Amino acid sequence: MQRVMTDSPAPLETPVLIIGGGPIGLSLAADLGRRGVGALLVEERENKLGPAKMLECSVRTLEFCRQLGVIDKVRNWGFPLDWPLDSAFVTDLAGYEIGRVRTPALGAERDSPVSPERGQPCPQTWFDPILQDAARSHPSITIRHRIGLESFVQDDDGVTAQLRNHANGAMETVRAAYLVGCDGFASTVREQLGIAIRGEPHLDWSMTVYLRIPDLPSQHDKEKAFRYVFVGPEGTWSFLSIVDGKDLWRLQLVGLDEQRLRDTDIPALVRRCFGRDGIAYTIEDKTLWVRKRTVADRFMDGRVFLAGDAAHAHPPNGGLGMNTGIQDAFDLGWKLAGTLQGWGGPQLLASYDYERRPASARAAEVSLSNYRRLVSAAQRAEILSPTPAGDEARRLIGEALVAENEKSWHPVGVHLGYIYHPSPIVVPDGTAKPEDDTFGYVPTAFPGARAPHAWLSDGRSTLDLFGDGFVLLKFAEVDTSALEDAARTRGVPLTVHRITDPEIANLYECKLVLVRPDGHVAWRQDEPPQENAPQDGAPQNNSAPQGDALSIIDTVRGAGPRIAACRAIRYRSP
Ligand SMILES: Cc1cc2nc3c(=O)[nH]c(=O)nc-3n(C[C@H](O)[C@H](O)[C@H](O)COP(=O)(O)OP(=O)(O)OC[C@H]3O[C@@H](n4cnc5c(N)ncnc54)[C@H](O)[C@@H]3O)c2cc1C
Repeated sequence: MQRVMTDSPAPLETPVLIIGGGPIGLSLAADLGRRGVGALLVEERENKLGPAKMLECSVRTLEFCRQLGVIDKVRNWGFPLDWPLDSAFVTDLAGYEIGRVRTPALGAERDSPVSPERGQPCPQTWFDPILQDAARSHPSITIRHRIGLESFVQDDDGVTAQLRNHANGAMETVRAAYLVGCDGFASTVREQLGIAIRGEPHLDWSMTVYLRIPDLPSQHDKEKAFRYVFVGPEGTWSFLSIVDGKDLWRLQLVGLDEQRLRDTDIPALVRRCFGRDGIAYTIEDKTLWVRKRTVADRFMDGRVFLAGDAAHAHPPNGGLGMNTGIQDAFDLGWKLAGTLQGWGGPQLLASYDYERRPASARAAEVSLSNYRRLVSAAQRAEILSPTPAGDEARRLIGEALVAENEKSWHPVGVHLGYIYHPSPIVVPDGTAKPEDDTFGYVPTAFPGARAPHAWLSDGRSTLDLFGDGFVLLKFAEVDTSALEDAARTRGVPLTVHRITDPEIANLYECKLVLVRPDGHVAWRQDEPPQENAPQDGAPQNNSAPQGDALSIIDTVRGAGPRIAACRAIRYRSP
């Protein structure tokens, strides 16, 4: 269906039209590309990046990079393996250190029991080009820059979009089966769909200043850290984070109002961080931005979808914005592929909103509480006092800041512990949903959860089995032919893996576990499914899925009856 994209104004056709070439649009393009799905991504900017907003990729993002085959590039982009990833609370770099959240350097971290990967810095300036290369490596993907979406209309069969070619001003028309708005917080797609956002669209103003500071670590007496958090009598007022592991630093000022924005004297603020004169630096860039926490009322409308900041925007505290958006892309990618390849049922794409909206709202809430904890207006009047009372105040403030914030920067429960429950395409097994924990993470194969990691005898992770089609994990010699026949009947790609390791069997809890292409558990049971029901087509009642192989396959491919049941308990944005 897709034609070769040129700068010609002739109408173009593509299965998927992606608006926006930020990290979310690029990861969706890369995911669709590896599934052989055609997509055109248009980005209104030139193909060059400004300074990075995102610095840290989560453990889940790294797991997706593993699936995309770009993990080595993301791990080895150049961040020094011996640079501690600590967050240090200081009054200034020449003053007092009042607390430190220790996070080992990349080279020192032992293997994690919950993932084959770990979260790590990979600023957008490195990360986005890696994603772009991955997307472009697939012949089905076309990426065009300086092309902006102006408007679109949808009908029963597709979406017709009007694009402006900023190189020559000409309009182009593109016809797509589906359109995905990955066009950021000020999303044209969301606006034209008339979808409202809820939450706090303006928490405060922030300013980010990029500083080139040659050899900063040797010019102060504090231990190296990934970020220094500056705390004054007024509370937390800025952070200084290392960007490239060499000499590029990012100073972020928090809690500005319009008056303070006008009065901002950057050299004076930099001097305040250093605590003295004499440290040479240059200002490379300066950006003003608004901190917000918003979630769109709907993540889709017919054939049009929202992903990333277009759907949910977070305070960057905890590094959850892009990382949550990448989960959107990986939820949507296989659903678009299944639908376009013909095995996805009519409800497969509708499940995107059911699954991703609650998960994104949960992450946005955590980002907001991270921010509020960090800047909470605790009494800090004596923080600079060179007296015993000052020492005591610093001890108390430091302890409180460490205790309140030590999990904020790596909320593994947000990254790995989101569970799609209820979901119209997940079959519940009758057990209780594990308690939600946004910081800690206890691996679980509860239906809807990310299938847990364990090392297989051949050195692969269980996660390496997932990514293409559905995977049936078999922990005992049971007959799965009915399920395999049902998948074949419906054209659903299914691979069966026999795992004999009893520890992995314990982790997954059931003898049979069906895992979706995005690595989430779709169904699990001890008993093999019964023979297929005689009827052709989707089952009509809501109690069928447990025993009937065809009903199970129909449910997980989006042709089951559970959409109605889920609609009744549908999540509402706060
Ligand atoms: C200071 C700061 C630090 C952050 N740190 C982190 C972090 O460490 N970890 C993390 O996970 N997140 C972080 N974030 C959040 C993260 O940057 C965003 O969540 C992420 O960039 C969202 O990606 P996106 O692709 O959805 O949107 P964007 O990055 O905003 O990209 C949208 C793209 O769409 C294009 N576009 C817009 N309209 C159109 C149109 N009509 N036609 C064509 N193209 C269009 C834009 O030009 C843009 O390139 C941070 C944010 C800030 C501000």
